[in-house]
Amino acid sequence: MKRPMERSGPDRKKKPFMRRKVCRFCTDKKLDIDYKNPKILRYFITERGKIIPRRISGNCAKHQRQVTVALKRARNIAILPFTTAVR
Ligand SMILES: [Zn+2]
Repeated sequence: MKRPMERSGPDRKKKPFMRRKVCRFCTDKKLDIDYKNPKILRYFITERGKIIPRRISGNCAKHQRQVTVALKRARNIAILPFTTAVR
């Protein structure tokens, strides 16, 4: 399989997503990952209810895991949706 030529265009498209360099939980010590707090968890799910990957959310591995666990708990107690039916 041959690879296409390396792209060298001036504008490589960046994802139109919020890019946060550092983990917000490491930055802000007061921020607590709490499964009972949908305000915080909302940042880490898409509007369809999917968990936003670490590459995009910018979380560090430790906190991303905590967020994931918190999200799953929140789903189970119906604070957050598993999916949002968008049709
Ligand atoms: Zn962190």
